[in-house]
Amino acid sequence: MSTSFEQARTYAAGTAPLPFPIPAEVTVQEVGPRDGFQLEPGTIPTAEKVAIIDALSATGVPRVQLTSFVRPEAVPQLADAAEVMAGFTPVEGVEYSVLIPNLKGAERALQTPADCWELMLSSTDAHSIANANRPTAEAFDRLRPVIELGLAEGKHLVGGLATSLGCPFEGRTPFERVAWAVALYADAGVGHVTIADTAGLADPAHVHEIASRLRQEFPDLRITLHLHNTRGLGMANVISGLAAGITDFDSSIGGLGGCPYAPGATGNIATEELVHLLDLLGVRTGADLGALTTIARTAVSAAVRHPLESSFEKADPSWVLHTPPQRQELAGK
Ligand code: ZN
Repeated sequence: MSTSFEQARTYAAGTAPLPFPIPAEVTVQEVGPRDGFQLEPGTIPTAEKVAIIDALSATGVPRVQLTSFVRPEAVPQLADAAEVMAGFTPVEGVEYSVLIPNLKGAERALQTPADCWELMLSSTDAHSIANANRPTAEAFDRLRPVIELGLAEGKHLVGGLATSLGCPFEGRTPFERVAWAVALYADAGVGHVTIADTAGLADPAHVHEIASRLRQEFPDLRITLHLHNTRGLGMANVISGLAAGITDFDSSIGGLGGCPYAPGATGNIATEELVHLLDLLGVRTGADLGALTTIARTAVSAAVRHPLESSFEKADPSWVLHTPPQRQELAGK
């Protein structure tokens, strides 16, 4: 059985490339087990989460975000973080990340096999106050001991920056503000940041401006784009990010997820839609769309018990052909 990348190459053979350069390969991080599950209204049993994580690990996705070491009272859906971490089977070549909100969470995470710690900060003060009850600079000061511990333990640290592509309280986030927040991490020794469209407010022009200027100003920094599809612009924003040279994207199986502190913010971009687009563009991800779609339609649907936002809940990939109809002979002619 050929991979979705090969099927898409056959389908698109002979098509002229886009009129601007894009990367040949990108790294996709699947964030459904954390960013997706944390907002689900129903309780998902730990065993189901573990089964979904193990299935996702076998799709070829190179990075998977597993859970968050937040206070169980704050996010009851992820109260089983330690059990999830003890239950899943790590696959060689896959990097597993966890979200670390504070030093206490970091100390809990140290007892688990997480290679990568993702930190959370809001680029805008209003969202930071909503999320962390203090403005950005003060919230960052509370992350400093986590960063020191993570660096000392040799963890891959990723500095998350919520509301970098628009804030539901402050509006469009200026580049200078995002660059200031990125510099907080970079100056503290964090070499990888995530630019997040927490409220789904991003548009292709803003994504291109922020991403390309960050790449210019911080040439050694690794930058992930974390996009939401709240207003239908998710895939357009991916293309804009590719055009700016971004090679790391977060996405969520089935399009699960949102942000509890950003009014009206719904789903992350769906991993199936992202991989489908990248397959069509000839950008390698290593992930197989067929395997992802099967997991979304079966295990993920069963776990969340509601329709998924991904187009691939119903649609097949563009390259799947249907049997053509036979011409009918009409009676009496
Ligand atoms: Zn998200």
